[in-house]
Amino acid sequence: MGTSESTYGIPEENMLSFLPDFIFQTITQIRPAFLREHGVRLLLMDFDNTMLPYTTDRPEQPLLDWIAGMQDAGITLCIVSNSHKQRVPHFSQQYHVPCVTHAAKPGTRGIREAMARYGAAPQQTALVGDQIYTDVLGAKRAGITAIAVRSIHNHTVWLKLRHLLELPFLAMARKRRVET
Ligand SMILES: [Mg+2]
Repeated sequence: MGTSESTYGIPEENMLSFLPDFIFQTITQIRPAFLREHGVRLLLMDFDNTMLPYTTDRPEQPLLDWIAGMQDAGITLCIVSNSHKQRVPHFSQQYHVPCVTHAAKPGTRGIREAMARYGAAPQQTALVGDQIYTDVLGAKRAGITAIAVRSIHNHTVWLKLRHLLELPFLAMARKRRVET
């Protein structure tokens, strides 16, 4: 089988694993109707820098309204986080959003655990997250829809550097931006 190489020197089929299917500015711009159009009934959500910045445990009201709107519309929400910190299960309990922690994305164990919990097939499942090398790659490896959002706040130099490494993939996927 011939392997076509992209301009970055990585085999093309591997490059596709880093490309989000859709890009939104923020998680709250994703609408239930958009997910339904794409057959998605289970939305898995990265936590840090997708739902909340690292710097606080208190969600803003627009996020809480968005969660309620999704749940009212019959979309199942489940946090799938690599975090080992208590702030994720605390949020989960306080705001009634189920979670899987220690997910080890871009591994697929946590993603598959959440899908099994709700009996959702890959084509019924999407994952939204801010990191190409963990969230998007994990979603693509699990065969589910990958939605990228901007990090809420890249507050350390390491997060800023990581974002620089993500820029080529975000540029390649720019036609997948969903304007709202
Ligand atoms: Mg994140």
